[in-house]
Amino acid sequence: MNRCRKCNVNILDDSIVCPLCKSVLELSDDMDNDKTGNLGIYQSKSISYPDVIKKRKVIRFVIRLSIFLSILIEALLILINVLGKNDKAWSLVTGAIFVYICFTIIYSFQRNVSHRAKLALQMLAAIPLILIIDYTYGANGWSINYGIPIIVLVLEMVVFILSMVNFRNCQLYLMVSLLGIIVSLVCAVIVRIGTFKFKLLSIIAAAVSIFVFALIVFLGDKKSTSELAKRFRI
Ligand SMILES: [Zn+2]
Repeated sequence: MNRCRKCNVNILDDSIVCPLCKSVLELSDDMDNDKTGNLGIYQSKSISYPDVIKKRKVIRFVIRLSIFLSILIEALLILINVLGKNDKAWSLVTGAIFVYICFTIIYSFQRNVSHRAKLALQMLAAIPLILIIDYTYGANGWSINYGIPIIVLVLEMVVFILSMVNFRNCQLYLMVSLLGIIVSLVCAVIVRIGTFKFKLLSIIAAAVSIFVFALIVFLGDKKSTSELAKRFRI
């Protein structure tokens, strides 16, 4: 076991520098030969830093394994798709699903990414997936008509619940809600310009996201306005 003399911590993994202060570690065993003989007190006072390297190795392995398996299975599916008689490029859809799953696995292990950012990323990643499925199966616009507005509605519902649970810090969810507004408005504009028959859902999604956003601004009061000012550097 290594220890940092400066921070007085035992490092359980095989790091060579201290994860806290970055100074070079020394072997704990050397301390046994401490002439002063007060090692017992010294060690009992020090705290152990958990073995994070092992955990990170497992995470890296899981990520690499899922990417490897995805590529392998997708290659097989493309082959089946090409050789098969089905004229639909359905392997494009499975490919998009694999990319989506791998993407989710990779960023869900990122500790420095907030759950709000993960929520936003999850929605943004679902959009190309839905567009690809729509495009592959006839491109009749259900992604714009229903798919993306439903995703926005789900997102806003989650944002609403989370901001109620974290009531004191509800302003933190403003930017995710704003993203919902932008996506649903883009959808509504496309529906308006295009020849889509069903226009209602994207407008409902936009209205709901504007409502959730306004509610958070209202409940967050000064915290919300300063959060917005900070984000947009007003
Ligand atoms: Zn240290």
